[in-house]
Amino acid sequence: MLYRDEAIVLRTHKLGEADRIITLLTRQHGRVRAVAKGVRRTTSRFGSRLEPFTHVDLQLAEGRNLDTITQAETIAPFAKGLGLDYDRYTAGTVMLETADRLVTEEREPSVQQFLLLVGGLRAMTAGEHGPGQVLDSYLLRSLSVAGYAPSFEHCARCGTLPNPGAGPHRWFNPSMGGVLCATCRVPGSANPAPETVALLAALLSGDWAVVDVAHPRQLKESSGLVSAYLSWHLERGLKSMAYVER
Ligand SMILES: [Zn+2]
Repeated sequence: MLYRDEAIVLRTHKLGEADRIITLLTRQHGRVRAVAKGVRRTTSRFGSRLEPFTHVDLQLAEGRNLDTITQAETIAPFAKGLGLDYDRYTAGTVMLETADRLVTEEREPSVQQFLLLVGGLRAMTAGEHGPGQVLDSYLLRSLSVAGYAPSFEHCARCGTLPNPGAGPHRWFNPSMGGVLCATCRVPGSANPAPETVALLAALLSGDWAVVDVAHPRQLKESSGLVSAYLSWHLERGLKSMAYVER
């Protein structure tokens, strides 16, 4: 059985002499691992279309274990746009690894994760916003879609909103799921600046008017908290995160 789908190439690894196994996040079939035959030969008809970051239109043949890629056309070569900028490239790598880790079930449709990743890579390539902020916004949203939505307004434990005019809740704890009020705060919680909590909420909602004018100190503090939140929800840390300056 042949089928078509579009996908982002998440990663690849070698198989035998000339083939690769390509891990894909597809639009309609979720995470799919498929064989690309002869892709490592210089004469391969796939060219560089099955490299990580590429947004491809695919035809696949269903197999008993792994499907086989029979056709691939490039929709957007995101690697080209990212390749020249170290910060954008490394941040993009974290996005691919995060998608790979959050979408765990094979063939379980995950349209929202697919659209978030395409949108995130497009923003990372376009260069209109800081790479760290495109990454942080993507991480918060993909975690939310995966069922780990952080709370930056209501207390994550008791649900109360801060008093009007009092600014956001002052404590943040990844294991509790977001900000905490003074009553609920637990030992070991971070105590970010109120502007940082507002920035985190803006990153989650995609309010770029707020994000783009934020102070570098707040950008750094929010990135640290996003990283802490992400590590809490992933069993193992991300390899690619080590290369991103936070
Ligand atoms: Zn509370």
